[in-house]
Amino acid sequence: MSKLPIAKPYLTADEAQGAYDVILTNWVTQGPKVQEFEEKFAAYVGSKYAVAVSNCTTALHLAMIVAGVKEGDEVICPSMSYIATANSVKYAGAKPVFAEVGPDYNIDIEHVKALITPKTKAILIVHQIGIPSDIDAYSKLCKEKNLVLIEDAACAAGSSYKGKKIGSHSDLVCFSFHPRKVITTGDGGMISTNREDYSTRLKLLRQHGMSVNDRVRHASDKIIFEEHVEVGYNYRMTDIQAAVGIKQLEKLDMIVEARRKIAERYNEAFKNIPQIELYKENTDHHVNYQSYVIFIKPGGKLTRNTFMEAMNAEGVSTRRGVMTTHREPAYEKECKGLKLPKSEFYSDNSVVLPLFYPMTNEEIERVISTVRKIFNAA
Ligand SMILES: *Cc1c(COP(=O)(O)O)cnc(C)c1O
Repeated sequence: MSKLPIAKPYLTADEAQGAYDVILTNWVTQGPKVQEFEEKFAAYVGSKYAVAVSNCTTALHLAMIVAGVKEGDEVICPSMSYIATANSVKYAGAKPVFAEVGPDYNIDIEHVKALITPKTKAILIVHQIGIPSDIDAYSKLCKEKNLVLIEDAACAAGSSYKGKKIGSHSDLVCFSFHPRKVITTGDGGMISTNREDYSTRLKLLRQHGMSVNDRVRHASDKIIFEEHVEVGYNYRMTDIQAAVGIKQLEKLDMIVEARRKIAERYNEAFKNIPQIELYKENTDHHVNYQSYVIFIKPGGKLTRNTFMEAMNAEGVSTRRGVMTTHREPAYEKECKGLKLPKSEFYSDNSVVLPLFYPMTNEEIERVISTVRKIFNAA
């Protein structure tokens, strides 16, 4: 039997056709498809504006700049996240201050409150593996303390919080379209916002700080000279990617519902295995299950690693749960002595199981029966 992968993107002839059509127009970057994708994405999440960029890491970097995060500032964020979360704070010259996570894999607001200092400029919440963080509670806290709220929604396209899609609630929400996420443009990112000034500045910054965009210049019957009003970046998304993104966006809700059904089957199948703890969906949330994670309670016959090895021997891929940033070599020096017992505990004892769309009934059953067999045998 062939090895079952952990994830794979759902790309079809439809996306290929979108890319093909753009290539034949000869307008392959900062053209009409980027604009169309932005408008459709904003309409989908329910925000006023959306700005397409090269990936979520660059989206987060620009969000930091627009939020006014500068050298000497502190930004509170989780350590238990993909390292790009903390790196974006560093790009702005600021210091990531790591908060603990709870059993929903998101930062614990009580710990966040305890970390606020006069240097704190922003709180960067992460909707880890697509599970919404408590946006309302953080919005309120940020208002009270005069901080900027930034959402790392890299994994959360298609998830909802209190009946509204992630991307509609606050003013700097950053998404990823890397193939490991629910929809993909190869690489790609988006920032949704309800503020016109943010949208304008983000568009400026992603394209070298240039005052006039290509579409405006092309459409004008007069000569327009552009200015570069501030030091910007090249964080553009191409029209080839945007055309793929438009096709993917049409399928997003369908993909999310299919992923939820698979997650439900897993939950049902694993709920009586004593050593496994499952994430319980909050009724306020509608989770996209960007990743399906199980938590292996320590002290049983299997450890996280022996479980992963047994799955591998059966040809079923797994991955470790979400990493911690403070224990990576890149952060070791500045985080010397920092202990985040809960983050370390959740990170070290959780495992991602295969979940993708489309997944055949046989593939789903294979994951279920392999997990059951390993735990019964142990
Ligand atoms: C994937 C991911 C990122 C980085 O996204 P890219 O598009 O690869 O830059 C950032 N934050 C989190 C939480 C992620 O999972």
